[in-house]
Amino acid sequence: MKLKTYITAEKIQEKVAELAARIDEYLGDSEAVMIANLKGSVIFFSDLIRQMKNMNITADFLSTESYAGTEHTGIVKITRDLSMDITGKKVVLVEDILDTGLTLEHIMRYIRDIHNPEDVKICVLLDKPSNRRVELAADFVGFTIENEFVVGYGLDYYEKLRNLPYIALVEEQ
Ligand code: 5GP
Repeated sequence: MKLKTYITAEKIQEKVAELAARIDEYLGDSEAVMIANLKGSVIFFSDLIRQMKNMNITADFLSTESYAGTEHTGIVKITRDLSMDITGKKVVLVEDILDTGLTLEHIMRYIRDIHNPEDVKICVLLDKPSNRRVELAADFVGFTIENEFVVGYGLDYYEKLRNLPYIALVEEQ
């Protein structure tokens, strides 16, 4: 398989530090909850929270399944729920990539309706606005990219390549 570097590990780390500073500015020292949607965001999430200065945050996880082949069908299901009570708290939902927006739209509605937080903001490392199918924007965006399939830094290629330290395009299989 041939991979082409799309965003280097250094550029990612610079951006993660920038995002962490912006989230810190928003949260202050509040007892906020950082939530990662598994599995794709786990690498980004762990780097991001380690760059944050707020030592009152807690971390929680959920996971989703979307019934898709290569095309998104629009049906998203929560397969793992939060384990903590986030009632009345500020929440930052962390996701690897915002593509059609269907996954985050579903999670946002679910968290707001079922878990009653004070507020939910969205932080994504990558944003592909040209592929959006619902009206949704992230509050904290790392990189805005073209409509291309990217892998690495948590993003998988048939479950592999999540451990690649940079983001790449698959040029040949
Ligand atoms: P959405 O619901 O916004 O269409 O997509 C969200 C999910 O689709 C992401 O969390 C990710 O798992 C997957 N996805 C979207 N674009 C890409 C991509 O370019 N590469 C990889 N590996 N996954 C993607």
